[in-house]
Amino acid sequence: MTKALEGSRFFIKTFGCQMNENDSEHIAGLLAGAGAAKAASLENSDIIIINTCAVRAKSEEKADSFLGRLSALQKKRDVVIAIAGCSAQLRRGELLRRKPRIDLVVGPGRYHELPALVAERGSGGRVATGRSRAWREMGPDATLREDPSSAYVPIMEGCDNFCAYCVVPFVRGREKCRPMERVLAEVADAGTRGYKEVQLLGQNVNSYRDPGTGAGFAELLDLVSRVGGIAWIRFLTSHPRDLGPEIARVMANRPTVCRQLHLPLQSGSSAVLGRMNRGYTRTGYMEKITMLKDLMPDIRLSTDIIVGYPGETEADFEESLSALDEVGFDNIFSFRYSPRPRTAAAKLPDDVPPEVKRRRLIVLQDRQKRLQLERNRSSVGTVVRVLGTGVSRKGGGRFTGRSEGSQVVNFTAPEDVRGRFVDVLITDCGPYSLIGEAAGTGR
Ligand code: SAM
Ligand code: SF4
Repeated sequence: MTKALEGSRFFIKTFGCQMNENDSEHIAGLLAGAGAAKAASLENSDIIIINTCAVRAKSEEKADSFLGRLSALQKKRDVVIAIAGCSAQLRRGELLRRKPRIDLVVGPGRYHELPALVAERGSGGRVATGRSRAWREMGPDATLREDPSSAYVPIMEGCDNFCAYCVVPFVRGREKCRPMERVLAEVADAGTRGYKEVQLLGQNVNSYRDPGTGAGFAELLDLVSRVGGIAWIRFLTSHPRDLGPEIARVMANRPTVCRQLHLPLQSGSSAVLGRMNRGYTRTGYMEKITMLKDLMPDIRLSTDIIVGYPGETEADFEESLSALDEVGFDNIFSFRYSPRPRTAAAKLPDDVPPEVKRRRLIVLQDRQKRLQLERNRSSVGTVVRVLGTGVSRKGGGRFTGRSEGSQVVNFTAPEDVRGRFVDVLITDCGPYSLIGEAAGTGR
């Protein structure tokens, strides 16, 4: 029996976070299951899926500009254009009035219907953005993974936190947790397929609860860490309020759990954190950092910071700067505040002028760059275990990979080490990466 999309070729463009990357892997798996094949390029494709992000206005602008490039292609070929993801959920029917013509608008809760929606495409555009309150199981067979060594495994979706600036609860809906046995089965499956690393994904993984037993994230992490075949386990995103000592103890005691944590601070000022509805103060955050460092002095930390949130004064901003000094992050992701529809903060005056936001972002990034360079220098002369992930475009036996602490490492090796662990002697560094040479390879 021929499959519904036999003979078609698809191209997926993904914007946004790891959750979106994982959704795109599911969409690819579902389309492949319906008979379509991955296109060699955008120009060769019959089905184009744009998986969008709604977190900042800039993310939407990037997707719009990509969409604009498709007008010429649409004149030449009969392509199906589908907008998926968070911005599809937020903008819905408005997208159908745009150029180029969009055939489908599919929210994050409905992408499992994409193969059928593509196959049934009529002449008018269609919107599928309803959401379910229950976890929808995709499973490993409906996943076409991009990375040959690291596998994303979703454990939950949605968010109940309603941070005042954030659109996620409105587009991804309430928290839905995946049954623990399904998570463990997918991790085991990734191990048998040869993946070396697993990244457990969710908007707020620390509040995970097994829908059947009520078991929490610490228990899940402990069980995942005992699944054979997987050497490194990471998880994101953590919420500082929900990160308890049980989770930190599993990280400290289980050798397969990487001693690395992304813990979004958002602002160093307790006044701003209060207005953001984050549910912790600067002191509360620093107490969590102390707990982590007491248990794991070698832990590597990263964070998210927003500058220019409504009412952020120069003194508030200085507190974000001093938080960088106090914690010693290995990496930060920093953003200018962007008002989002439906959020509580959108009702506050966006009163930090654009040029002040821009300046604060530059000052923050410069401070972090200096701190990172100092931290990276302390790794020079040490041997770091690295998972090889890619080959450098420059050739000459140059590879790239990540350390257990998630630092980017560029190194030379005598053989192809992609998908393998390598001990790398660090000989030099920049603010954003370590540089070295392979001192020995493992499996
Ligand atoms: N659930 C995660 C968390 O709690 O951090 C990730 C949420 S979001 C996809 C990733 C980051 O985008 C946030 O941590 C925040 O720093 C940033 N962000 C979210 N909404 C924003 C907004 N309206 N303006 C600027 N940055 C924003
Ligand atoms: Fe957004 Fe806050 Fe939920 Fe993260 S925890 S997804 S920032 S509402």
